[in-house]
Amino acid sequence: MRKRIVAGNWKMNKNLTEALSLTSEVVNMVRDEVRGDVEVVLCTPFIYLTSLKKYTDEVTRISLGAQNCHQNASGAYTGEVSAAMLASIEVPYVLVGHSERRQYFGENDELLAQKVKIALENGLKPIFCCGESLQQRQNEDFLAIVKAQLTASLFDLSPEDFGKVVIAYEPIWAIGTGLTASSDQAQEMHAELRAHVASHYGAQVADDTTILYGGSCNEKNAAELFACPDVDGGLIGGASLKSREFTNIVKARM
Ligand code: PEP
Repeated sequence: MRKRIVAGNWKMNKNLTEALSLTSEVVNMVRDEVRGDVEVVLCTPFIYLTSLKKYTDEVTRISLGAQNCHQNASGAYTGEVSAAMLASIEVPYVLVGHSERRQYFGENDELLAQKVKIALENGLKPIFCCGESLQQRQNEDFLAIVKAQLTASLFDLSPEDFGKVVIAYEPIWAIGTGLTASSDQAQEMHAELRAHVASHYGAQVADDTTILYGGSCNEKNAAELFACPDVDGGLIGGASLKSREFTNIVKARM
């Protein structure tokens, strides 16, 4: 059975004091208010992961994720962080292919395939982000474009490895813009992606694949989006920086 997940992507926000407060607030609220089988993942800047672990370790349903990892195992890559380093501090999740990495750091499908592979080799669960630009949506070839992102970066994986990947559909035009995909738009894409997974890996693997929606998801629209049959949870940017709002989004997924 597929997991329900609400993940926060803090991006490059918060100083250490703020990071500790936000995490401790989220941990307390989730422990006291959240029931059911939803899993919460906090994808924070690398530098805070070790300090935050003692908070997230208190509640089994909460875990940490990194926002990136390098595609190579180790070596002369100044400023980078490897999947093995993340594994060594017991971080279970890593975002791969966020649209900001694709756009500002030139990450392409082939590179992202390498990142997914090395993450899996090190026992990390990749949250693989995909999505179309506004122009692509307007040209109406957006379904094919997003499916091609999955094919290029994920479909060389064995079924067993693919089963460890979480997909996050994030239309680029909805990220940080306040423009959210309607529940019909989200459901259409999620169903299409699930069918695409089924065509390659079979119906059972597709049915077990967690597909998150991301893009201006907030406490007001989360329940409607999460009610879609193929939307298994959310990847939350801006709204994950406020403990009350983020917890309310988690509660919308219970
Ligand atoms: C994101 O960056 O993954 C995201 C979904 O951002 P926001 O919720 O702010 O649109």
